[in-house]
Amino acid sequence: MDYRQVEGAREFVARLDHGRDWRAQIEEFAADEGIDAAFFVGLGAVQDAEIYFYDQDEQEYYPERFDEPFEVASCTGNVSWLDGERFAHTHMVLSREDGSCVAGHLNEATTFAGEVYVREFDTDLVREHDETTDLDLWGGL
Ligand code: ZN
Repeated sequence: MDYRQVEGAREFVARLDHGRDWRAQIEEFAADEGIDAAFFVGLGAVQDAEIYFYDQDEQEYYPERFDEPFEVASCTGNVSWLDGERFAHTHMVLSREDGSCVAGHLNEATTFAGEVYVREFDTDLVREHDETTDLDLWGGL
């Protein structure tokens, strides 16, 4: 395990815009505020979602598209650099009216309403290609 001690920097609370992409709003906010490393949590509701499932054998992401409204029962993620841009790695648990859930790695979702808490760290995190998993993981820790 590689790790690095970090100091907490700024904290933010944000209300996401209705009708816009959940993850893109967080990335745009991070760019506007110059955030190079952060963790965030959120909750709210979305009108649709595209979840990526990473097949560990094939080492490929497979998208699953849901065109239905969900509660965002839980959202957690982090901000780091990927290919020269800020990337909000975002996972969600999305619930239906009957309480059943879908969950996973979020690609996109149209926000109905969203509340997010962001904790910035005074460091930078940069993703690098990892040979073992074929994923872009934090490098230089
Ligand atoms: Zn993920």
